[in-house]
Amino acid sequence: MNQPLLSVEDLHVRFRTPLGDVHAIRGISFSIERGQIMGLVGETGCGKSMTGRSILRLVPQPGEITRGRILFEGRDLMPLSEDEMHKIRGERIAMIYQDPAAALNPVFSIGQQIFMVMEQHQANSDVDTRQRVIQLLEDVGLPEPMTLYNAYPHELSGGMQQRAMIAMALSSDPSLLIADEPTTALDVTIQAQILDLLITLQRSRGISILLITHNLGIVAETCQRVVVLYAGRIAEQGDVGDIFHRPHHPYTKGLLAALPNPGSRGNALNVIPGRVPSGLDLPPGCTFAPRCEYVMDHCSQHQPGLFTVSPSHEAACFLHEEVGGKKP
Ligand code: SF4
Repeated sequence: MNQPLLSVEDLHVRFRTPLGDVHAIRGISFSIERGQIMGLVGETGCGKSMTGRSILRLVPQPGEITRGRILFEGRDLMPLSEDEMHKIRGERIAMIYQDPAAALNPVFSIGQQIFMVMEQHQANSDVDTRQRVIQLLEDVGLPEPMTLYNAYPHELSGGMQQRAMIAMALSSDPSLLIADEPTTALDVTIQAQILDLLITLQRSRGISILLITHNLGIVAETCQRVVVLYAGRIAEQGDVGDIFHRPHHPYTKGLLAALPNPGSRGNALNVIPGRVPSGLDLPPGCTFAPRCEYVMDHCSQHQPGLFTVSPSHEAACFLHEEVGGKKP
């Protein structure tokens, strides 16, 4: 059997603060296959972005990875030196963010910025590198790439800036792209175009994508597999069909019910009552219990592990304990 491109095993991230330890990630494990787009979903504060940053070992201070393994292309990234990680970040795993304007350097043209990244990783002539940059700008759907080469970030729309960021991310030909809310700052039409671009790149280049989003609708359109995070743990994971047609965790059901429904225009959206607990003050037992309409006595005292629903589908909820499978 082929090895996954990325396996995250029992990842824990903690922040030491004057108020106490914040347990941002509490033992999550998942894999991404080669050429797969996987969605990482949850509300703000569930640990999605921190998971993406952990894969690159870029957890901000005072945070630290306290346990776990990150296996990428068969190599554990945790023991690597900072120099080795710098090479992995530059060449094998790329990341794009919600705000491309903040990530682009305002004083260099788009072409120059991609040229400089490419130059660091490849020993081509300047003419060849410039040609490759123009080709990349074309590959990400930017019009008139030869003209855009000399354009500055402020001359581009938000959607074009995000395409330029994607071109820069692809310039070292990575095998994994981590896209952290890449369309959240864009209007709906442009969002759809950027998602289409990600799908095209996955198909044409065989790249794997970890798509971090709070929006399950985006996952439905883009991903093959989904991990639903809640308060730093996995609530449910499965193939897109499992999550959308056979959701087993009340949190996943709540997120699905909160999606806008074209047939109910004008009606108020469903919302999950309450809010994600702070990592400083997690409730005992199941952390979703204070918001769960199915809560049982047992739930407030014990933390559910992931129960196997089917070979491709797991849910961390005592409602499914009788199905059997992995215990906590
Ligand atoms: Fe709700 Fe209990 Fe399941 Fe937690 S374990 S999601 S509280 S039913």
